[in-house]
Amino acid sequence: MRRQAIWYPTIFPDKCDGCAGFDTPRCLSFCPHKVYGILNDKVVVINPQNCIYGCIACERVCPRKAIAFPMRTADRQVTRKDKGLLKRVKCKECGKVFCTNEETDLCFDCRKSLNLK
Ligand code: SF4
Ligand code: SF4
Repeated sequence: MRRQAIWYPTIFPDKCDGCAGFDTPRCLSFCPHKVYGILNDKVVVINPQNCIYGCIACERVCPRKAIAFPMRTADRQVTRKDKGLLKRVKCKECGKVFCTNEETDLCFDCRKSLNLK
């Protein structure tokens, strides 16, 4: 069985303004899986276990860019579902084009030969 990475959104409280100017918080009304809820008058992630692995749909509806997902904040196992999140990078050492979801401009072989992780 494929190992599933932990996957749910994080709201940055310094960016979130609760969707001031909108009738309802957009993330709250958008997500059909009831991941978001209201606690002490603030939108929070109340059901992280309901989030669908690989989904980042609500990130796009946030007018304040206050929502982030694990790929930007932590390493995780690369699986078939991640393919859409991979990017093509040209290795600055050998020029080989490779795919990665990490912030690196060195391919695996060059990192290994340079004794980098
Ligand atoms: S990523 Fe998808 S499932 Fe998860 S909270 Fe956002 S809209 Fe809901
Ligand atoms: S959509 Fe963004 S700004 Fe609006 S409540 Fe959700 S996280 Fe906050």
